[in-house]
Amino acid sequence: MHTNKKGVNTICTHVGEVKDEQFKGAVSPIYMSTSYAFEDVDVKRYPRYYNTPNQEALCKKIAALEHTEAALLFGSGMAAISHALMAFLKAGDHIVLQQTLYGGTYNFAVTQFEKYGISYSFTTGWKVSDFENAIQGNTKVIYIETPSNPLLTITDLEAISRLSKKHGLVSMIDNTFGSPINQNPIDFGIDVILHSATKYMGGHSDICAGAVAASQEHIDTIWHSAICFGGSLSDQTVWLLERSLKTMGLRVQAQNENAMALASFLKAHEAVDEVYYPGLASHPGHAIAKDQMHGFGGMLSFELNETIDPSTFLKKLALIKPSMSLAGVESTMLLPVQTSHALMSAEDRAKQGIKDGLIRFSVGIEDVADIIQDIEQAVEKASVKMETVE
Ligand SMILES: *Cc1c(COP(=O)(O)O)cnc(C)c1O
Repeated sequence: MHTNKKGVNTICTHVGEVKDEQFKGAVSPIYMSTSYAFEDVDVKRYPRYYNTPNQEALCKKIAALEHTEAALLFGSGMAAISHALMAFLKAGDHIVLQQTLYGGTYNFAVTQFEKYGISYSFTTGWKVSDFENAIQGNTKVIYIETPSNPLLTITDLEAISRLSKKHGLVSMIDNTFGSPINQNPIDFGIDVILHSATKYMGGHSDICAGAVAASQEHIDTIWHSAICFGGSLSDQTVWLLERSLKTMGLRVQAQNENAMALASFLKAHEAVDEVYYPGLASHPGHAIAKDQMHGFGGMLSFELNETIDPSTFLKKLALIKPSMSLAGVESTMLLPVQTSHALMSAEDRAKQGIKDGLIRFSVGIEDVADIIQDIEQAVEKASVKMETVE
């Protein structure tokens, strides 16, 4: 629902702040109280009730950015994901999960659902027919991630929403990679939007948080179980996240531009076998991505050819940091096989097309020429040929 007609950078800067009525300061004051008077007030405030002044204000900003009626903040992306899933699932229910998911979500599904009597199926791909084939009589939720981690596959939002409505399901999306700047799934009819705010929303690799955006009705459902699970975010961190969100539009725009330039650079490079980036016309999901995204994002992945040792390549990078996390203003790279997807069996990784030499690249806001120069020098130092040729 478009409740706010303002431009996205204006929303980032101004919507959902706590007005400093007393001193007229430029930024929101922080309310750290865990105790609020309960007499003669409409709202019973308490941090674990997700309704302190700072939480409430920032939820308005997130809802405005995602075009939803309401939002909730959590202590991590996984808290947002797990609280939302457990709000809509009970013993005897079934959930359809997209094959390629964030490693932590995959791990949650395979280690937690069974304990609660919830059954689950992973799709064999990300086409709509793959989802339809997995739906059962007791299916309640359909869960997608697009662009996905780490191969940047694209799932058709509108088609999934139609399928989900036809079967009376709740559709959920992990929108972390897109960020609210590049993708607003509610506009295509997706019900519940999940974010690891640790990533693009925080954007500086110094905040761990999560968010859910949805209709007021869905947020109320999630809130009722979330107050039991207790995954709320501290007001100090809420305040830091508000500061970060003010520049999210600018940061993500810069990351989109850098990622597009770097994807084209890598695609043309002789040491690179394959590049996965939805902005490239050669990407199988490009046409759908163009329809449903405002920008193609700052994440890409690529495979070096056999003349380059990927571990050595990562070690030789000087500007780009080897890092587990992503979406900060600094560029980072990792090998999914050693990190984000290490908990997954080699067989499952192969099924998903995650090769041992695949490198995930979180593109930062540095000058693109400096990033290219760093890649070039690391490729040179990691060349296997240089050591073997006599
Ligand atoms: C990081 C991440 C998560 C989990 O978020 P945390 O804040 O680490 O709990 C979920 N989904 C995606 C796509 C992520 O990148």
